[in-house]
Amino acid sequence: MAHKFVDNYRERGARKKLAEKLKDRGIQDKNVLGAIAKVPRHYFFDETFWLQAYKDIAFPIGDGQTISQPYTVAYQTELLHIKKGDKVLEVGTGSGYQTCILIELGADVYTIERQENLYNRTKLVLPHMGYQAHFFCGDGSKGILDHAPYDKILVTAGAPFVPEILLKQLKIGGILVIPVGDEQTQKMLTVIRVSETEYEKFELDTFRFVPLVGDQAW
Ligand code: SAH
Repeated sequence: MAHKFVDNYRERGARKKLAEKLKDRGIQDKNVLGAIAKVPRHYFFDETFWLQAYKDIAFPIGDGQTISQPYTVAYQTELLHIKKGDKVLEVGTGSGYQTCILIELGADVYTIERQENLYNRTKLVLPHMGYQAHFFCGDGSKGILDHAPYDKILVTAGAPFVPEILLKQLKIGGILVIPVGDEQTQKMLTVIRVSETEYEKFELDTFRFVPLVGDQAW
């Protein structure tokens, strides 16, 4: 990232307003709203576009990559019910904005991205911003077996079905949040692992994600 990181009252004020807007849209978890108000989303943007950073919109950030809409990030995060120290697997690192939100909530994040250029960029940018995570490059539709089990698993790309192999990497009581559908739209699903063999599934609102591409995906 070429520009210097500058965070002034103007950016901080815009962030607070963004958090208030998400509250009006239905995000209730105070910790999630607090994290939105804290993570400097404009650091992911070219300086020319800083004013765009605190609008509730997805935005192209180079390398053919889009930073997720704040509402979507807050929505998925709220469903995860992150507790301090939770071990979280994030599939689809992308810009790393969602990763920062999880870290801000106290999660120990294992994040995997299949595109090498994004993996390389984000694993440099986040520590530079003060956010530490475990970065992996590869196909996250199979999870990361070496570090399983996880308290929570978050998939930030649209899947054709719930990969069985991800469910098996949840701790008992663990939660998987994943958008599932066709290429156009997906329903947000949460799956709770209630025992070794039983899962409870809830279907929620409709979203539009970029496709999850891989062995257990498109
Ligand atoms: N969480 C990001 C947005 C991610 S967009 C943010 O906050 O900005 C979804 C990302 O998932 C894309 O970067 C895409 O390359 C990645 N992806 C798609 N399929 C994947 C897979 N099988 N494993 C890992 N990453 C994948």
